[in-house]
Amino acid sequence: MILSPSRVQKGQTCMKQVWYHYKLGIRPKVTSANLAFGKAVDDTVMDYLKAVTLGTRISSIEDVFVRHWKKQTSVSLEYSATQSENKLKEMGAAMAGKFPVKWEESGLMVFIMPDGSPALQVELAVQISPKDSLKGYLDLIAMDQIGRIIILDIKTTGVAYDDLFVRQSDQLTAYQLLVDSHAETLGIEQADQVGFMCLHKKKDPVIHLPQIVDRRPTNRVREYIQTCQWFVNDYNNGRFNRSPLGAFNSPCSMCNFSRLCSEGCTEDLSIPDRAMSALQLAA
Ligand code: SF4
Repeated sequence: MILSPSRVQKGQTCMKQVWYHYKLGIRPKVTSANLAFGKAVDDTVMDYLKAVTLGTRISSIEDVFVRHWKKQTSVSLEYSATQSENKLKEMGAAMAGKFPVKWEESGLMVFIMPDGSPALQVELAVQISPKDSLKGYLDLIAMDQIGRIIILDIKTTGVAYDDLFVRQSDQLTAYQLLVDSHAETLGIEQADQVGFMCLHKKKDPVIHLPQIVDRRPTNRVREYIQTCQWFVNDYNNGRFNRSPLGAFNSPCSMCNFSRLCSEGCTEDLSIPDRAMSALQLAA
């Protein structure tokens, strides 16, 4: 099985979600505007970092965002009551416009791979058992002024992350495992630090300086590999239980499958033929 940090995280949230999404291939009919917005911001930041790293110029980072947003909005999106295509366009352009100053202030630079390309949107995979591998797409590998290698994930978020989460995030642990396992081909000893750079979605967006912590200790990485193996065991043994948790921390209100899971309603979902009989059997 090919795992990804997001697949494993979904499994930790609710294995029923994993069943709907990965096993049956069910998807929402309409993409969420938040998801599309995040992708447009991410692509804009990557274009900017590529340009500054290679010494090419982009005339206006705001225009780059508008171009990516236009691409995202070429399909119909689901907006919340307070969102619209135009409001998100304005917010994204403002966010993009503020990014370069904060990036310069961070003192970081994009790491250059041995083939001369900037380490942006790097795809890496590692074998975690004879039959299973973990694959991840890293936003960027950076380097600071004293040559430390830093794995940095760019997040477009409604709230800034706190330091505790930066220390705990399994996504960063997974990325460290991936980078370390390719250290030789990347021409480095190891990843020295990991962190997030949060782009805070507000009417007047705020770009936070990168929040960076030291690399995870070996036992944390081992624990993560174990978590991946438990996911594989549960998946292969068909343990797809619901996890509504408590009222104060339930994942259900954020779940794409909440109406299917709670009422059997399928109208907002695109369901492959092969999934229909599995759903009928489970009903
Ligand atoms: S609605 Fe809740 S229990 Fe059902 S799949 Fe989604 S997260 Fe899991």
